[in-house]
Amino acid sequence: MRILILGGTHEGFQLAEQLAALGGVDFISSLAGRTRAPRQPAGRVRTGGFGGSEGLANYLRAEGITHVVNATHPFAARISAHAVAAAETASIPLLRLLRPAWTARHDDRWVAARHAAEAAEQCRREGGRIFLTLGSGELDAFAEIRNAQFLVRMVDAPERQPLGDYRVIAARGPFSLQDELRLLAEHHINLVVAKNSGGEATYAKIEAARRMGLPVVMIERPPIALDPRSPAVPTVGAALDWVRQHLG
Ligand code: NAP
Repeated sequence: MRILILGGTHEGFQLAEQLAALGGVDFISSLAGRTRAPRQPAGRVRTGGFGGSEGLANYLRAEGITHVVNATHPFAARISAHAVAAAETASIPLLRLLRPAWTARHDDRWVAARHAAEAAEQCRREGGRIFLTLGSGELDAFAEIRNAQFLVRMVDAPERQPLGDYRVIAARGPFSLQDELRLLAEHHINLVVAKNSGGEATYAKIEAARRMGLPVVMIERPPIALDPRSPAVPTVGAALDWVRQHLG
């Protein structure tokens, strides 16, 4: 048994740690190479794209991979589609480790957006001081907005100027509720824009917005997040059970 973990998430990291602790399981973690100093999971790590689903299928064969766990982020739609196609081509089992989406409570003020462009439209309508928690690849949609000042939080500061009027905070979660409340108050934020990533590490901003009565433009997950061709589990523990079952 040799497992490929498609990672770049807290869950991918944790799965590698726990497989290492389990012992006797051969596995490789794969990172896309997007962040400058990613957290290094236990065990062997490879970095960079595979070259589409064909490239991934070739990699699976060349490395003698017998099982794939797709633990990538819920918004990582392309690699997830490639994983399904490549696992099918190579005839090997694939598991999707996907944290559940957040759901709105009665006292949340969420405005749903299907993608970044729709979220940008909401920001243009609202204006003011807006907290964006998106990746650098998603900022282009907000570039032409002139009636807002943006506070942008991302893991690495962007290399080029992404927006008109903005400030960047380079930080990696988890974030505490206390810190998020302070941040929103200090920057006089009137609107929060977030992706429905799920999980606990970045949920505090949603809770902080609720407590402060602020609206949140919530970008929904891309439809490919789940594929009926691979079973899905919500937790690292359940993914470990799947591995144990396949170990026999
Ligand atoms: P994506 O749009 O689905 O994938 C774009 C391309 O990046 C893929 O076609 C693949 O290139 C390569 N790639 C993605 N994940 C990879 C991995 N784990 N190992 C090797 N190659 C990978 O992905 P994305 O949304 O840009 O996310 C990139 C990485 O960042 C993922 O590992 C994801 O878990 C992590 N991440 C994403 C988000 C987010 O909001 N999207 C948030 C936190 C972390 P080839 O076609 O050349 O194979």
